[in-house]
Amino acid sequence: MNLQPEEISQIIKKQIRDYETKVDEAEIGRVITVGDGIARVHGLTRCMAGERILFDGGDVGMAQSLEENTVAVVMLTNGGAVREGTVARRTGEVVSVPVGAAMLGRVVDALGRPIDEKGPIDYEGTRPVERIAPGIITRKSVSVPLQTGIKAIDSMIPIGRGQRELIIGDRQTGKTTIAIDTIINQKGQGVLCVYVAIGQKNATVAEVTETLRRAGAMDYTIVVTAGASDPAPLQYIAPYAGCAMAEHFMEQGKDVLIVYDDLSKHAVAYRALSLLIRRPPGREAYPGDVFYLHSRLLERAARLAPEYGGGSITALPVIETQAGDVSAYIPTNVISITDGQIFLETELFHSGIRPAVNPGISVSRVGGSAQIKAMKKVSGSLKLLYSQYRELQSFAQFGSDLDADTKRRLAQGERIVQILKQKKSSPIPVEKQVAIIYATVHDYLQNVPTEEVAAYEAGLYAYLDERYPDWLRSIRDTGVMTEEAEQTLCTALDAYTERFLN
Ligand code: ATP
Ligand code: MG
Repeated sequence: MNLQPEEISQIIKKQIRDYETKVDEAEIGRVITVGDGIARVHGLTRCMAGERILFDGGDVGMAQSLEENTVAVVMLTNGGAVREGTVARRTGEVVSVPVGAAMLGRVVDALGRPIDEKGPIDYEGTRPVERIAPGIITRKSVSVPLQTGIKAIDSMIPIGRGQRELIIGDRQTGKTTIAIDTIINQKGQGVLCVYVAIGQKNATVAEVTETLRRAGAMDYTIVVTAGASDPAPLQYIAPYAGCAMAEHFMEQGKDVLIVYDDLSKHAVAYRALSLLIRRPPGREAYPGDVFYLHSRLLERAARLAPEYGGGSITALPVIETQAGDVSAYIPTNVISITDGQIFLETELFHSGIRPAVNPGISVSRVGGSAQIKAMKKVSGSLKLLYSQYRELQSFAQFGSDLDADTKRRLAQGERIVQILKQKKSSPIPVEKQVAIIYATVHDYLQNVPTEEVAAYEAGLYAYLDERYPDWLRSIRDTGVMTEEAEQTLCTALDAYTERFLN
């Protein structure tokens, strides 16, 4: 074969061209220093924020701070092989996690790797942990209820699918219990759940998982955990990872509930990470972008319009306060990002009012439009009577002789407090909630001693199950209480109350 000189020079030129592109693709750098889970890498000039970085030896990191000469890479795995001089490679992609139906029923870490000893997960694909939230055009307003099965919440602070409702309170006030009970109540409702545990003890997470398993709720739930002993970077990405898993289902048109337990610990992990990469500290030593940390996460909760798939993500973030101080930095931030808050109080909790919801300062700004009509009908008077009772109660402490009407209203208020109490892991279907609340606001319980209210309630449910299954079904299926249905309920309550008191 005879080659002309121009051809030879062309081949050489081509090879030189290709050689250059190859060098471009495999952009590498070298570790300058490593410590505290942060590697400073020199040479990754075109690196993107949030990009996955591979180290020789197999460890993975995420690029965080892009500075003039170096990039701060937070270590997501730590095999111990990364040291000064180790080669670090760009991958051109952001950190992603596995997603898909096979994740349901599993306990995974912040990178989606199983930690429940049930073997590898046959996942459908991967998704970047960070994503821009759906825009307003693709959204639809909240109109379908997300029943928590908790009387105090479904009646007075109703939540709709696609809403963000904050659960806030001091430590040990029942925050996790509300979230877990809500997950348990989604059984058979077609809602998939993701529980993200951030900075919690492994034993606590194991306990929660066991509660879910016993209630049969693990079948439709993914537990994502980055424990207190895990490095700060893993705690930092855990909620975004859980959200990516939820988004995968939402885009398939499914309804998803996600719990972030809790975002106070998440903010602390982010603060630790930011201080280590020497970002300037601001108020309470949090970095300046701590608001954006939670806003970009919670904005991803949405209800999509039918033409965009029609799925939804309902978010229940949890915030722990110190001595009930809701005006601290992180609580005020998250309150302003969410569509309402369920406020739990230590005093109520210790006086035996559990769930310790304070209805006076708890709100749901959008859930009302999702509440079923039958509940709306009875809950309006419930809220009013309850707040009147709270006021009367503070007055009644001073006066000794009260008129008959005040006495009657105080007695009714005491019964309202009683019926709003609820044991944990025992969600109540909304149609039964309607029945007991109707009975309370219409004074069927006035002759029932307060300590027997719980027995009255349990008996009523059994009575309705036995004698009025059609009434229960019609409320459940239609969501409305017609005049006829109201008549039926009155007849049932008359007969049952009569029987209970004798
Ligand atoms: P932490 O701040 O430690 O995360 P928390 O606010 O999440 O606590 P939980 O763990 O939910 O609180 O509840 C604290 C304790 O109160 C638990 O032992 C739980 O079993 C109990 N508890 C919570 N709710 C109820 C309830 N409705 N009835 C009875 N016990 C309850
Ligand atoms: Mg908790």
